[in-house]
Amino acid sequence: MKTILTGIRANSELTLGNYLGALLPMVRLANKHSKEMNVNIFVPDLHSIISDVDGNLHANTIRSLKYYLASGLELNRNVHIYRQSHVPAHSELCWILNCIATMGEMGRMTQYKEKSEGKASCNVGIFDYPVLMAADILLYSAQYIPLGEDQFQHIELTRNLAMRFNNRFGEIFVVPENTAEQVKFMEVDQGIRIRDLLNPEKKMSKSTKAENSKIMLDDAPEKAAKKIMSATTDSLGKVKFDMWGQPGISNLLVIESLVTDVPLDDVVAKWSGDTRYGELKKQVASSVSTMLAEFQERLAAISDEQVLTLLEEGEEYANKIANAKLLEVQKAFGLR
Ligand code: ATP
Ligand code: MG
Repeated sequence: MKTILTGIRANSELTLGNYLGALLPMVRLANKHSKEMNVNIFVPDLHSIISDVDGNLHANTIRSLKYYLASGLELNRNVHIYRQSHVPAHSELCWILNCIATMGEMGRMTQYKEKSEGKASCNVGIFDYPVLMAADILLYSAQYIPLGEDQFQHIELTRNLAMRFNNRFGEIFVVPENTAEQVKFMEVDQGIRIRDLLNPEKKMSKSTKAENSKIMLDDAPEKAAKKIMSATTDSLGKVKFDMWGQPGISNLLVIESLVTDVPLDDVVAKWSGDTRYGELKKQVASSVSTMLAEFQERLAAISDEQVLTLLEEGEEYANKIANAKLLEVQKAFGLR
C-alpha cells in the first residue's frame, strides 16, 4: 500500500487563506486516497523548535490537529496521526543520514540560505532540518508528500539521499516521487491564493499586522462579515473576474466559490456585469460567516482527549513502522 505523508506546523492561528489554500485541499486529498493508501499526518514538533520556543507547543499541537478534524478529515484505519518527537526513530535516522549527506549539497538549500541570510549566527537545526525531513519521509516509505513549492528542493534532496544510500547498501529506501509527479498528484495546476482584504495586490498572510486585512479562523462570524464588508474593491463599478485589473472584487468571487464549493465559473457567471458591489459583499460576508460558524462549532465539539487518543494509536503504529525501517538501516551500517 502506498503512503501519503503530510505535516502541519503548530505555531500560530491560521487565516482563511491558510484554510482554503492549504488545510482544505490537504484534507480533500487525504479523504480521496485514504481508502487505498496510508495517510500519515504528523506534527513536525522537532522542526518547530528550530525557531519556536514559547512553551505553547503542546497546546498548539493539539489545536492544529483539531483543525484537521474540523476541516472534515475522515478517520479510518489507514489514517495515522502522530507527533514527530514521539517517534525517536526520526532523530536517529536523521543522524545516520547526516553521515551520508554532504556540506556542499546542504549549503545549496535555498531555505537555509534565506533563513540564515544576514544573521551573524544561526542554529545548526536551520542548516540540518532538510535531513530530518528526509528521515520523516523515508522511515515510512512515503511516495507522496503534498507540500508547497518552497519545499520542492527538500524532496529532491530526500530522493538523492535515498538513492545514494540504496546504491551503497541495496534497495532499503523507497524513493519518493519526483516533484513533477508530486504536483500531478496534488492536482494543483493552479495554486489557490487568497488576497489581503485591504491590499488585494498582496496575498492574505497571518503575519500581516492590520486586523482587517485577514480573516482568522477564530474570528467571531459577525466580525469576519464586517471585515468582508470593509474589503477594498475598486471604482470601476462593474463586477468582472480580473485578478490584475480588479483584484479586490476577483478575490471576493474566489472566496465565495471556495467557501460555498460552487465552481468559480458559475460564481463569476452569476455576478459578472453586476454593479452592486454591496450586494456581492453581503453575499460573501454571509457565506464566510456561515462557514466560520460551522467550522467553529465542529472545532468546539472535538475534545483534547479525542485528539490524545488518536495520537496514542497513531504513535504506536508510527513507532512500529519507523523502527522496522530504522533496523534495516542500522543493520546495513553494521550498527545492529
Ligand atoms: P506567514 O505570514 O507567517 O508567512 P502565511 O499566512 O503565509 O504566514 P504559511 O505558514 O507561510 O502562512 O503557510 C501555510 C500554508 O498556507 C502554506 O501551504 C501556504 O501555501 C498556504 N497559504 C498561505 N497564505 C495563503 C493564501 N493567502 N492563500 C492560499 N494559501 C495560502
Ligand atoms: Mg507565508
